[in-house]
Amino acid sequence: MSARTTPPAPSAETVGGQGAGRPDGPVVVALDVGGTDIKAALVDAGGVLLEQVTPTRAQEGPEASFAAVLAAIAAVRERVPAGREVAAVGLAVPGTVDEEHGVVVNAENLDWVDLPVRAHAEEATGLPVGFGHDVRAGGLAEWRLGAGRGAHNHAYVSVGTGIAAAVILRGEPYAAHGWAGEIGHGGAREGEPCPCGGRGCAETFASAAGMARDYRRLTGASADDVPGAREVLARAEAGDDVARAVWERGVDRLGELVAELVRSLALPVVVVGGGLVRAGDALLRPLDAAVRSYLTIHPVPRLVPAELGSAAGVHGAALLGWDAARAAGHDVPRQHAVSAPAVAPAARALVTADGVTP
Ligand SMILES: [Zn+2]
Repeated sequence: MSARTTPPAPSAETVGGQGAGRPDGPVVVALDVGGTDIKAALVDAGGVLLEQVTPTRAQEGPEASFAAVLAAIAAVRERVPAGREVAAVGLAVPGTVDEEHGVVVNAENLDWVDLPVRAHAEEATGLPVGFGHDVRAGGLAEWRLGAGRGAHNHAYVSVGTGIAAAVILRGEPYAAHGWAGEIGHGGAREGEPCPCGGRGCAETFASAAGMARDYRRLTGASADDVPGAREVLARAEAGDDVARAVWERGVDRLGELVAELVRSLALPVVVVGGGLVRAGDALLRPLDAAVRSYLTIHPVPRLVPAELGSAAGVHGAALLGWDAARAAGHDVPRQHAVSAPAVAPAARALVTADGVTP
């Protein structure tokens, strides 16, 4: 397989481009459904052939957002090159997700409650549908294709809009009907209200979104000036004491959460992903110190930055698609290739824009 030199662009010209698998090989349609956007991709054994981003339309209600998911699948299928079989759909969605039963128990961002997503999607598409939680799909991708390769026991901790972990034990994802790894909620009785109904949850102040919100609340800064944790970190590094306090409090709580995982499961490796890891060492060094400060007798885990960046969810969805196709008896690859240049330039650009070492 030849290496790509540019990231895949959402245009038909990328179909069958460099890095593709066999030109007549099977493909999967992979979707990472977020509260705002649906990232969809067509993937073959060689990697991502094309990508598109469409709005989730969550504000229009649950029927509209589910219709947007089906429309995104249909739009990608229309662009499948002639002669190539679509073997399956892979679908990664947010919220509390029961993979075993194919059901979204509750996705607050989408207003989906007890929605049998897998069955509905299979009926609408006539294809096998691999289905999973967005963070666990990202963790699956990092485990099979990225930073967690070869780690039989580890967690992928995603810190972005929320905080959640994907746990891999003895080489198997451990989900427990969607409840395992939901480390961002609970653990406090006071503080800012959280969408889960609790108060002072880690997600309210230690997620990337939470840090930005916390800073804006304390300073009156606008969402235009401080849209995310990147700006909080920049202000902290420029000597803003409130920003430093918000950043340090958030990172300290993240360290405590990682330590709690290690105390329970003695994980030797923790892959750190989600938007916050774009800060690079500015996050990983203090996080490592915080984790150590909360551990005494336990071996300190190795913290590894995620490799797939914001593409982890869509790669994980593709893996779910390959698995579903194989389970349905299709002769498809177990996984696809991730050519580093296909993903890394965007991630590097973001890190460089932060002024953090690439
Ligand atoms: Zn909560």
